[in-house]
Amino acid sequence: MVIDVRKCNAERKYTGELNFEFEGDDSLIDIPFVSFSSPVRCRLRFEIYEDNSVGVAGELSFSLKGACSRCLKETENCISYETEVLFVPQGKKADEADYIYKNGIVELDEFLRDTVLFALPSALHCPEGCSAPEYNQE
Ligand SMILES: [Zn+2]
Repeated sequence: MVIDVRKCNAERKYTGELNFEFEGDDSLIDIPFVSFSSPVRCRLRFEIYEDNSVGVAGELSFSLKGACSRCLKETENCISYETEVLFVPQGKKADEADYIYKNGIVELDEFLRDTVLFALPSALHCPEGCSAPEYNQE
């Protein structure tokens, strides 16, 4: 997924929306026996500023399915994560948190991967709460 900044500028289209989804990469997940159970849905807005930096903000959401980290039963969690970043053209002054883009094209892949990593929880739990297996009445 890319934003063609030169084309947008030529068309005077300085803001836009990006709604798309992509397959989550299970190798990013650090929880045992858990994987993506939905695509990663992205609802993003972008704005091209006068200095050609590009602000991207919005929400990523996805579902994870697998063993609850507490009771080990199969469960599913829906995750949504708000994000806001700035893409700065190569050669311009950028902060550490900013992404750099080259040749008038903003590539979102690295940002999307980073954002999924930030959004991933460190554990999966039953939504209604549960207790550790030794306390279960089974
Ligand atoms: Zn549980």
